[in-house]
Amino acid sequence: MQALTNRAKDVSRKPMSFMESLYLPAIFKGMAITFSHIFKKNPTISYPEQKRPFSPVFRGLHVLNRDEEGRENCTACGLCAVACPAEAITMEAAERLPGEESLYREEKYAAKYEINMLRCIFCGLCEEACPKDAIYLSETFVPASFTRKSFIYGKPDLLIPNPKTDPEGYEKARGKAEPTTASAASPN
Ligand code: SF4
Ligand code: SF4
Repeated sequence: MQALTNRAKDVSRKPMSFMESLYLPAIFKGMAITFSHIFKKNPTISYPEQKRPFSPVFRGLHVLNRDEEGRENCTACGLCAVACPAEAITMEAAERLPGEESLYREEKYAAKYEINMLRCIFCGLCEEACPKDAIYLSETFVPASFTRKSFIYGKPDLLIPNPKTDPEGYEKARGKAEPTTASAASPN
């Protein structure tokens, strides 16, 4: 019969020798391979105690950013939602009222801001589309959950801690994100 490829191999059907029928050479060969791995570097790590470094381009959980005075950057322009290929972002805009200048940087803000993490593909286009440095993707994984509803992240889940009242939480949430006005203004 004509072979379709040149990768066909003839199978040897010759009877086993006495040594081969003992299987000892094959067992010792297998053991030698096993023992040779004892002296090799362990490829596994003890997660979560040990963590591998993230790739510089890793994109994780979204963070809604604040400025150096702790005001929300987002102006609810909707550009992130338009740019999102997965239609994962929804928001409702509201007008800033007199006296709320310390809460919201712009005259308009997102009264409601939601990201459906089950839809999100972590492409980062929302971050690129934002003209206000209001959203970025951090180095935090979206945690596993048992319910679909818990993957709808609202504003309280996404908003970064206030750098004035919780500087430690703010730095932790920022991770290794590019410096923004808030961190650029800080002394270190
Ligand atoms: S990372 Fe991509 S898919 Fe996820 S919300 Fe942003 S634009 Fe949409
Ligand atoms: S996160 Fe940025 S792009 Fe999205 S609504 Fe807010 S200001 Fe606009």
